[in-house]
Amino acid sequence: MKKYIIFLLASLLILLFFFSSESGKSILVNISHKSDSLKNYREVKKTEVIEMKYQINKHDSEWEKELTPEQYKVLRERGTEQQFSGKFYKNHETGDYICAACGNLLFKSDTKYNSGSGWPSYWEPAADSSVVLVEDNSFGMTRTEVICARCGSHLGHVFDDGPNPTGKRYCINSISMEFDKDTAKKGK
Ligand code: FE
Repeated sequence: MKKYIIFLLASLLILLFFFSSESGKSILVNISHKSDSLKNYREVKKTEVIEMKYQINKHDSEWEKELTPEQYKVLRERGTEQQFSGKFYKNHETGDYICAACGNLLFKSDTKYNSGSGWPSYWEPAADSSVVLVEDNSFGMTRTEVICARCGSHLGHVFDDGPNPTGKRYCINSISMEFDKDTAKKGK
């Protein structure tokens, strides 16, 4: 009888653990952008991400005033520009890609490559501190969203089918970025 009660309690605990981990209360945020090894992920509550403090925090109404409707849709409402339509898809010039919302340095032209996807693709962000990666379960898929680390704006997604040396494909909306050609000229 005693064994039976212990077994029952243990089963209950396992069930409780299963349901609490499956309820979607928390998501994974990658705290290192060089590797997606699980040790670099830390679990955070969804509310923690929503309240995540960025260096630049603006009300939606301010972003709406500053950005074009097309930029707002992608950067602040996590939209996606049409494939093969973006202004940087075929840009082969040397320079820096910065956040269209806040000017944060995101990607450098020497990590840009032609992925054939129809969106500008990079195998690495400019720096560890350039972007934040967040698990995205929208549209019935599990993807990793790429966000500007300075202002929290949506940039695109990162996939595991990129080239060497990282094997990553940062698939980024052109409209989320501006291109800084002069910075590259000044010194690199
Ligand atoms: Fe930004």
